[in-house]
Amino acid sequence: QAFKTICEQDDKIQAYLTLNEEGATESAKALDEKLVSGEARGLLFGLPVGVKDNIVTEGLRTTCGSQFLKNYDPIYNATVADKLRQADAVTIGKLNMDEFAMGGSNENSSFAPVRNPWNLDYVPGGSSGGSAAAVAAGEAYFTLGSDTGGSIRQPASYCGVVGLKPTYGLVSRFGLVAFASSLDQIGPLTKNVEDSAYVLQAIAGYDAKDSTSAKVDIPDYVSALSGEIKGLKIAVPSEYIGEGVDAEVKQSIMDALAVLEGLGAEWEEVSLPHTEYAVATYYLLASSEASSNLARFDGVRYGVRAENPGNLLELYHQSRSEGFGDEVKRRIMLGTYALSSGYYDAYYLKAQKVRTLIKRDFDNVFEKYDVIIGPTAPTTAFKLGSQLDDPLTMYLNDILTIPVSLAGVPAISVPCGFASGLPVGMQIIGKAFDEQTVLRVAHAFE
Ligand code: GLN
Repeated sequence: QAFKTICEQDDKIQAYLTLNEEGATESAKALDEKLVSGEARGLLFGLPVGVKDNIVTEGLRTTCGSQFLKNYDPIYNATVADKLRQADAVTIGKLNMDEFAMGGSNENSSFAPVRNPWNLDYVPGGSSGGSAAAVAAGEAYFTLGSDTGGSIRQPASYCGVVGLKPTYGLVSRFGLVAFASSLDQIGPLTKNVEDSAYVLQAIAGYDAKDSTSAKVDIPDYVSALSGEIKGLKIAVPSEYIGEGVDAEVKQSIMDALAVLEGLGAEWEEVSLPHTEYAVATYYLLASSEASSNLARFDGVRYGVRAENPGNLLELYHQSRSEGFGDEVKRRIMLGTYALSSGYYDAYYLKAQKVRTLIKRDFDNVFEKYDVIIGPTAPTTAFKLGSQLDDPLTMYLNDILTIPVSLAGVPAISVPCGFASGLPVGMQIIGKAFDEQTVLRVAHAFE
């Protein structure tokens, strides 16, 4: 059914970059045999899943939305891809994204921009735009995305689906093509909160292959969905409902808070005073890490190689000039500059210090409150092309998701209404490794 829906509509939505028809048919056959033999079924038995194209899949093309990797077929699986297989999910294809996950509208994909299923003239958000659009359009039962500064939550919000960014370290990053290693996390995009809990259950857990993987016990996320939130203490940062946030978006959040109040929760306004520095801090740190991570794309080890270079330097130079798109080059240059001697202290080191202050803002609020709630993004989806020539405006779309990434804490975006005919997302932020509460609140609201 998923393949049929994809065939019917994906020429318009362009969520998929690669389809895995052969592999999926094989997996489905193996599952049939499992049924016949009566062997135990996995948690996600038979569910068609789409995987963001920066998660490597053995033998299945993985492009990261980049010309650089347009012919790259990995020889191994990311840990999450193995976990999906162990849970008996069926990978049906690889999903379109902003090149190397840099972007918030999917327009930086070097193949084609994904379109928002609610209105094809609008962007689906990014960078996991394909992952969000595929779920919204019924082109997968659920998908995996990655979130560095908002890339799961913001497209989930724009496409009216549920997107969860787990605590940094909860889900293995092994086999996720690194953008900014201290921020990247893989997480599920689903139609509802219960599905999100099931997928998280299947993909979370310690992995010796990821040095930042956390050794924590994995609770039962599904049984946490009790529907009960009486006495829950909610903090609403004034910075998240102030200037720059669309009036209709704010109204949807206020209405949602009233619903939560009706369920017995209490909310109060608080302050996260360093919010205004988050975007600048993020773009310095993320670009610095990206400039270092992307050094591996030299035309020798992965992907395309320039033709007829005169010498080794020319090989590097030509391969990178041809392989990377404009946004990726912009960030590599920014990051290289911030890391260079003489500027390191003024930019990179300073940004690290501000990151600590931002994290402390969250720690302080979490001393008294169970969750923090606000909009996922200041506006609903915008028109394709409308912010393309203005990267700085584009960067501001992530102002409400970036602080959460810098603090490393978990957050979910759940649909909470419409503004001008497009979906609005509410962001529920929790304490580190307290996905249970985040999911419980989201589920009670839904
Ligand atoms: N839009 C943000 C950026 O361009 C976030 C991307 C992400 O989370 N991968 O960096």
